[in-house]
Amino acid sequence: MALSRKPCAQCKKPVQLTTISHLSGEEGGYRVVLKSLPIMMCADNHKRLINPDFAMQILDVIGRGELSGVYAAYQRGFLRRRTYCARCGFEINKAILTNREFRASMAVESGPTMEITINAPCLRCITCGIDQLPEVNEPTDRIFRALARAFRGEEIHAA
Ligand SMILES: [Zn+2]
Ligand SMILES: [Zn+2]
Repeated sequence: MALSRKPCAQCKKPVQLTTISHLSGEEGGYRVVLKSLPIMMCADNHKRLINPDFAMQILDVIGRGELSGVYAAYQRGFLRRRTYCARCGFEINKAILTNREFRASMAVESGPTMEITINAPCLRCITCGIDQLPEVNEPTDRIFRALARAFRGEEIHAA
């Protein structure tokens, strides 16, 4: 991921790449942990994300199931909604819901690789054995809000 080197928006001082070793945020049972989060920081310790699209890039990595191992089941049906496996397409029995941890990593320009861990309630597909998030839209939304909380907790601003 590329870095934005424009000066600090708050004090106009130059910024440098640094990393936050560990931060986390939670929303509605979804917990997101970031290790080695790259940030840009000025001499006054104002922190911001490394580029304006960084949060979306994190979601993008999470959203690519074949890379991150994070799959999200989808729902179809008009009068009766049914849930289907994101990988094999067979119907999933909603009764099997367990908490699971997913890990993904993200390469960062001239910094250490960032590690992303998501802990969330999951459905298991009995056909192919893959664990996945219960629905498509809501999980992404919750992961996004959990990320926003993690950034706010460390006073990291948008780039
Ligand atoms: Zn500053
Ligand atoms: Zn399946």
